[in-house]
Amino acid sequence: MNKKSTETVLADVRAARETFWVNPDVLPYEKAEPGLKFHKADIEDARARLERFAPLIMKHFPETEEAKGIIESPLKETPELKKVYGFPEGRLFLKCDSHLAIAGSVKARGGIYEVLKHTEELALEAGLLKENSTPEEYAALADHRDFFAQYKVQVGSTGNLGMSIGIMSAAIGYQAFVHMSADAKEWKKKLLRSKGVTVIEYADDYSKAVEEGRAQSDADPMSYFVDDESSSALYLGYAVAGERLKKQLTDQGVTVDAAHKLVVYIPCGVGGAPGGITFGLKEAFGDNVIVYFVEPVQAPCMLVGLASGELDKVSVKDFGLTGLTDADGLAVGRCSKLVAKEMTHLLAGESTVDDSKLYKNMQQLYKAEGIIIEPSSCATFQGLIDWNEYCKDDFSAEERANMTHIVWATGGRLMPKEIVEEYLSK
Ligand SMILES: *Cc1c(COP(=O)(O)O)cnc(C)c1O
Repeated sequence: MNKKSTETVLADVRAARETFWVNPDVLPYEKAEPGLKFHKADIEDARARLERFAPLIMKHFPETEEAKGIIESPLKETPELKKVYGFPEGRLFLKCDSHLAIAGSVKARGGIYEVLKHTEELALEAGLLKENSTPEEYAALADHRDFFAQYKVQVGSTGNLGMSIGIMSAAIGYQAFVHMSADAKEWKKKLLRSKGVTVIEYADDYSKAVEEGRAQSDADPMSYFVDDESSSALYLGYAVAGERLKKQLTDQGVTVDAAHKLVVYIPCGVGGAPGGITFGLKEAFGDNVIVYFVEPVQAPCMLVGLASGELDKVSVKDFGLTGLTDADGLAVGRCSKLVAKEMTHLLAGESTVDDSKLYKNMQQLYKAEGIIIEPSSCATFQGLIDWNEYCKDDFSAEERANMTHIVWATGGRLMPKEIVEEYLSK
C-alpha cells in the first residue's frame, strides 16, 4: 500500500484515526551519527557502571543472582504469534522486557541505571567509594543505608518509571517519592506503598506530575529528581540494550547484515525508553536495523513532535486529542525534547493504535504463546500489522525471508493475578 504523506498522517492524528507515518528525514547512520548528542563511548560508560554495581544489585535482589546482578530479559522466538499476524516469512521474536527483574518493565533499564549513577556520585563524594573500588566495596554500600536515608529521590510517572525508581531507591535506603499522574493504575500505587515509597497523586496528566515533582525536589537540596522529560542518564541506561541484544541474536543463530535486516517495534511514551534503545540498536547494527515506534491514537506525542518538526513545542492537545488512554505507560502528551531531537534522523517511522486493540492483542499473545504482558506493552503489535500493510512490498520475497522482526514487550511481570484475569476477560 502507498505510504501516507505527513499531511495525511497529521489529519489522521487529529481525527484520532490509526495511522502509519514514514519519517522522511531518516538518514544513513554514518551521516546521522556525528550530529547526535551521545556516542558509543557514552553507552560503554553506562554499561561499565551497571557492571560495577552488579554485586550490590545481587545483594539487594537475590532474584538477580543467577544473572550475576545483570538485569537483562530473554529474547523469545514466537512462531505461533507469527501466524496470528500473517507473517509467512522471516523470524519473529518477543523481547521480554516485560519480565525484567526488579521493576517488571523496560524501566528497569534506564530507571535503575539513573539511581545507581546518582548513588555512585554521592558515595564517591562521601568517600564510601573511590575510583577503582572493588566489587566488594560496591556490595558494601548495602551496609550504608543510613547514609543514603538522608537523601530523597523523586520522580514523576504514569506508573512503571515510578516502580523502577521507587523500588531501587527504597532498596538502597533513600526516601523515595513518586508523583503519579491520574492515568496511573491503582495496583502500581499499592505495590509502591508496600515497599515504603511515598506516592503523591495528581488529578492531572503526566506533565503536571513531573512539573510538581520537579518543583518540590528542586526546593530541597537533599533531593534528586529523575527527569523523564530530559534525562541523559535514563536514555543511556536504555541504550545499553543494543549490544546485549546483538549477543542474544548471535546466540540464537540470527544473522543481521545488509541482506538480513532486523526490524524492531517499540511502544513510546515520553520517548526515553524507545529512544535510548533505538540509539543503542543503531550503534550495534547501523543501517541494518530499522526501528518503528507505536503510540496510542489519543497520545501520539512523539509522532506529532517529529512529523510537525516542532518536537516538544507541541502537545497532543494542540491536535485536539485528550491524551487519555488505557495504555498508562504511554499516556504522555508532550515528548522529550532530548529524545525527539536524537530520533529525528534515526527513527524509520511510527504507528498509532486504538485502545480497543490493546486487550485483544494481549489475549492473542497469551493464547498463541502463553506469555502475559500489560496492555500498554501490547501497542507494539500494531507495528507488525502496519509493516505488513505498508512496508512489505518494499522488499523482495528473499529479503523478507531473511528478515528478523522483534516486537518489544515493555511491561507486565508485576501485574497482580486478579488484574491479569480482568484484562484477559475484557
Ligand atoms: C514507559 C513505558 C513505555 C515507553 O517508555 P517512554 O520512556 O515513556 O517512552 C512503554 N511501555 C511501557 C509498559 C512503559 O511503562
